Formats: sequence, structure tokens, C-alpha cells
Amino acid sequence: MILFLLSCCFFILALKSRSLKSFISRLRQMRLLLPMFSVVFSVEQMRKCVVFSVLDVPMIMPMMKTPKGGALNGSAAEVEEMSLLDLPELAMECILERLSPAELCTMAGVCTYLRDRCRSDHLWEKHMKQKWGRVIGKTTYGAWQWHMAANKRRNLLDARKHNALFGSISSIWPLRLVIPRCGDKSEFESSLPVDSIMALYLSLENGKFWFPAQVYNRENGHAGFMLSCYDAKLSYNSRTNTFQARYSPHGQHTTEENISWDRLRAPPVDTPAYVLHGSDCLYDLKPGDHFEIQWRRNKDYPYGWWYGVVGHLESCDGHAYHCNCHNSEVVMLEFNQYAPDSRWRRTTINRKSHHEEGSEADGFYGGIRKLYEEEEISTWKGILPAKVLD
Ligand SMILES: [Zn+2]
Repeated sequence: MILFLLSCCFFILALKSRSLKSFISRLRQMRLLLPMFSVVFSVEQMRKCVVFSVLDVPMIMPMMKTPKGGALNGSAAEVEEMSLLDLPELAMECILERLSPAELCTMAGVCTYLRDRCRSDHLWEKHMKQKWGRVIGKTTYGAWQWHMAANKRRNLLDARKHNALFGSISSIWPLRLVIPRCGDKSEFESSLPVDSIMALYLSLENGKFWFPAQVYNRENGHAGFMLSCYDAKLSYNSRTNTFQARYSPHGQHTTEENISWDRLRAPPVDTPAYVLHGSDCLYDLKPGDHFEIQWRRNKDYPYGWWYGVVGHLESCDGHAYHCNCHNSEVVMLEFNQYAPDSRWRRTTINRKSHHEEGSEADGFYGGIRKLYEEEEISTWKGILPAKVLD
């Protein structure tokens, strides 16, 4: 017990010094933690990472030894003479917390013990939030569960076909010729817990999971979508660090490529694209407020979210001392990306009886949400067009 406590104290001190960096550096140098920062997490590569056998554990031992000609001093030398698996819990945890996603993936292939440790949700939550937090929301998790369930069904069907084929072939050929190799791709995928954050992270990284999010100025800034944000299914391309989008099947263009991170956002509300959003801010709208409102071309199309600013009614001169617009039942909505004489420049809604309003000619305005967060407002201001649209 005393030895254990002494070990813990030692590692706490070591963590605050350069020795931990040295230790991790040594691990990397010894190729335990292969640098994979620029590597695509393809399933094939992940399969190569995974060698779930305790026979691999001795591979760890030699790399802990002091390298030839490398005179190490003090605590660093002491650390490097130990086995990784002998480290106290706290030290092990501190090391794992400092590993990148690629390093965790590699480390998970060393042995069953490290596999379980490296898959822990708490290790991946930080990485998930850091890279994906801004563009994924609650709907992503739901969609991902469906994605994994569909994969599982497909794998089961494939397995049944395979077993049927295996049965017929094995009656003809020697058994060893038809046994599938260990570490098969589907085996690795299915070995990841469906509800683990690591599995979701890898699914996002390899681009096979098309996740739901919203895209600003869809179709690469097409004038017909300027200052709007539309729902889409997106797939990440780690090679180009961009996204591909699939929009609703309605409309002229339904796909778009090379979408940068700054054009994406997680859906701010749970309202699906074909559902009218319940407006809960109608009595809180006053001139100068920023808002987003649903709008769609016709009732077969999905809604997009359009940015605007609350304006003054025509009866108001806009002077702060005379303005009574905030007490009126009618709210003036302005879309300043359009020219003053454009039919898209202004529209009105009624606070008391607002519902979907519009026509086939002008489209339909749906639910409205007031923007309270400065970050949201500044994002919209950042994509204002250089000149007004007709
Ligand atoms: Zn006014």
C-alpha cells in the first residue's frame, strides 16, 4: 500500500514536470503511438490497428527500457524502466487524456486492456467537443443510431448470405481455405459499442456517416439563397477538410461539395425542415432586433432559416421618442440584403395570430426565432453580401 501511494505521489510530481512529455515522446518514438494526424480513419486502417491479443503485451516491455546511449536522468529514467501497464491508475489516465484521437485509436490496438481504456467515452468527449461540437447537435446522435442500426442489419444479412455460401463451399473445400480472416472490417466495426462516442467520432471522420446539420448560403452563395441556412445531410472529407452536402430533393441543385467548416452549424432548434416552428418570441420583437424566420418557396419544399432585422412600421418615423412599434400587433420584418424596392425586402406578421403566411408567388413565411446570442448575430453579419440583391 505504501509503495502504491509512493508511486502515485511520484507520478503526480512527474506529471507537472517535463518527464511526462519525455515519457509520451518516448512512446511515440518507439512507434507505439504512430503519428496519424493526417491519416484518414478508414475502416481498413482501423482494422490494422486492432490486434486484440494478450500476446502483444510483451511488445510493450522492450520499449520501456532506457535506449542505448541515452543517458536519462532522475525521474525520467525511472519512468522509462517501467512497463506501461504497470503504471498507477492516475498516471495511466493522465497519459491517455493527452493522446490525440489517432493515438488513442492506435493505442487501442495494443491489447484488450488498453482497447477498453482507449474507448472510454470520457476520453473521446473532449475530442468530440473540440472538433465537432459546433456542427453536430441532438439530431446527429439520433441519426447516428439509425445509421449504425442500418449497418448492423446489413451486416447480418451479409453474414446470412456468407453462412449459406460457407456451408455449401465447406462441403467441397478444406475448412482452412474458407475460414474468414481474423480482424475483418465488419468485425472491427461491430466490435465498437454502438453507443460509444469513439464510434461516432470515427464515423464522422471517415465520412461514411452523413450527419444532419445546416449550411449557410447553400449552393455556394447562390443569389437565391443569400443569407439563409438550410438543413442538409453532410459527409466529411478528411483529405480536403471540407464537406459534401445533400439537400432536399426539391430544387435545381441537390448536392454541393467543398463546403468549409465556417458555413456549417448545428440546428439551433429541433424543428424538422418540413415542420412549422412554434414562435415563442412574438411579443418580444421590437425594432432593431435580429431574427431568423422560416421560409419556403412552396408547400412541397422544406423550410430554410432566413436572417432579418425587425424594422419600423410605415406609420412610424423611426425616432426613438415617437416609436410605438413594439406595442403594435403588426411586426415589420426587413431583409436588408435586398434592394429597397425589391418585393423580398419587407413583409409583416401579426403577433396575435401568426401562422404560416404567404402565397405561391412570394413563398411562405413560417415560424420565427429571435436571436439573443451575439455569436449568432455576428455570424450572420459576417456573411452579408457586398452589394444588395434585386
Ligand atoms: Zn417604430
